[in-house]
This record gives sequence, C-alpha cells and structure tokens, in this order.
Amino acid sequence: PPNTRVIQDSALSGSNSKRISFRAPQAPFTAKDFSYGKLLGLGSYSKVVQATKKDTGVTYALKIMDKLHIVKENTLNYVKLERILLDQLDHPGVVQLHFTFQDAHYLYMGLECCEGGELFHQIQRKKRLSVDEARFYASELIDIMEYLHGQGLIHRDLKPENLLLTRDGHLKVIDFGSAKSINNFNGLVDIPDDKGCTLVGTAEYVSPEVLDGQPATMGTDLWALGCIVYQMLVGRPPFKCATEYLTFQKILNRDFEFPEFLSAEARDLIDRLLAHSFFQGTEWSELWKSPAPLVA
Ligand code: ATP
Repeated sequence: PPNTRVIQDSALSGSNSKRISFRAPQAPFTAKDFSYGKLLGLGSYSKVVQATKKDTGVTYALKIMDKLHIVKENTLNYVKLERILLDQLDHPGVVQLHFTFQDAHYLYMGLECCEGGELFHQIQRKKRLSVDEARFYASELIDIMEYLHGQGLIHRDLKPENLLLTRDGHLKVIDFGSAKSINNFNGLVDIPDDKGCTLVGTAEYVSPEVLDGQPATMGTDLWALGCIVYQMLVGRPPFKCATEYLTFQKILNRDFEFPEFLSAEARDLIDRLLAHSFFQGTEWSELWKSPAPLVA
C-alpha cells in the first residue's frame, strides 16, 4: 500500500534537527538474505523471529515492524527511541543491536539472539525460583539499572517479559520504547513529556506515584525491581488482580502479602523496594529555589 512509504529511509535517523552517526547503521540487507527459524515473541507493534544470515551463518533475533501499523498507531517516535538507545547503550546486560534495514512494508532490527527466552517463562516453568536463582537475577538487574540510571535513563517497563536470558543464562534487558531520559535524550528524539498524562508501563509493575499522575523517576524502576524480586520468589506479582482497576487499587494501597516461606531478609528487601519514597515529590534541581518550611 502506498502509505507504507510514509516512513522514508531517514525515518530511523532521529529527529529532523540532528543527524546521528550510528554504531549499527542501516545495512544493505534484504529479508531474503536470511533463513528463518522459530518465532521468538510477539510485541504490540512487532514480531521477533530467529533469523540466520545465509552468508555468515550468524543467528539473530530479527525484530520486524509493520510500517503501516506504526503509522496507524502513531508509534514512530517509540521505534526511533528504541533504535537510538539500543545503538548507544553498551552493557553486557543490555541486548545488542547489530544492524537495521527496511523495505517497502517493514522495518527490521537485527538484535543479539537471547536463546534462553524470557525470565517470565523460567518463573512459570519452575513455579517459583530458589533464593540463589532470584539473588543472581536480581543482582544482574541491579547492575543493569545502575548503568541505565548512570546514563540518565529510566526504563519504565521493567518486568520478567522484558528480561531475557542468553543461552548460558545471563540476563539481558529489552524493550526501550518506553524509556525516559532525564536530559530529554539531548534532543535526539521528540518524545512528549509524561507529566501527568500518559500512563507508561505495565499494570502489575507500575508504581503508585506514576498511577497518581506524577512523572516517572529512578524510583519507578526500583518499584518494578521490588515487584520482580517478589515474583521470582513467590511465583506471581505482588499486586496481580482480576482486573487492571483492582490491581491499581492494590498498588495505591500497597496491599500485598508475604507467604510464610519467605525469609526475613527477602521480606525486608521487598518491603523497602515497595516503600513509598520518603523523598517523593522533591524537585532536586529546584531545591534551593523552592519555598522552605516556615521558621518558628
Ligand atoms: P511490547 O509490546 O512489549 O512493547 P515490542 O513490540 O517492543 O513489545 P519486544 O518486547 O521488543 O517487542 O519483543 C517482543 C517479544 O519478542 C519479547 O517479549 C521476547 O519474548 C521476544 N524477543 C525480543 N527480543 C528478543 C531477542 N533479542 N532475543 C530473543 N527473543 C526476543
């Protein structure tokens, strides 16, 4: 269809004002250069398939995005954002982007293939993880978060579906389409401010302050970490309910229970991660200009 051409070759090169040089530039590949294996996953705007480059024999996870769908759903900015971030990030726990290409109908991203699948499925298969397993994944996730936060990035959609495992069992975070940058991505991509408007994230892992309409902070990812640690040890997320509305009520009331078998250390960690931050609402950059308490 003619309007798939709305996304031109430059579409993934960031905003109109700045040109970016990518480490993983658009490659002169076509879909025919690959032989296809199993379907790795379905996203809201993509299909991810195992694909082996015929000439090199290297296998990738090829993320295939329908241009028509992107235009219809107005999600080009999120696609651009993910492409720019994956290109810039460099950490063993962040999935690597090797190349991109496109044709008339689809955009393609060649990602490192995480053959161990989703952490979500590990939890499902094992019912719940042992303390040692949970500690291992939580430690890797904390290291990844420290890196991302150090880059000024909040992931905003951390959950076991977005944590993949390599063949040898190490964690890789994916899905940067919802990320937020405290320096507004240096103007590289035009993402609307989230102040009090769109709810970003997934119901079960969203923090009370985001539900309350406040902007996401680094604490938003820490809240998600608390939910993930709970889910690894218990087998289900702490606030899961039959409907999103009920889940949100539970989150706002911080209404969750610890099963008997959880150790005091695990309870303490989860309790602290799922605590309403004492400093919630503090605008650190405005601190010295903001009104102070009355002096008695
Ligand atoms: P979402 O609806 O979560 O925004 P999306 O369209 O951004 O989805 P992804 O979350 O990136 O798509 O990918 C969808 C699914 O494909 C993932 O949940 C995962 O199971 C699988 N997948 C994605 N990337 C890889 C990868 N590099 N290796 C293996 N599987 C992957």
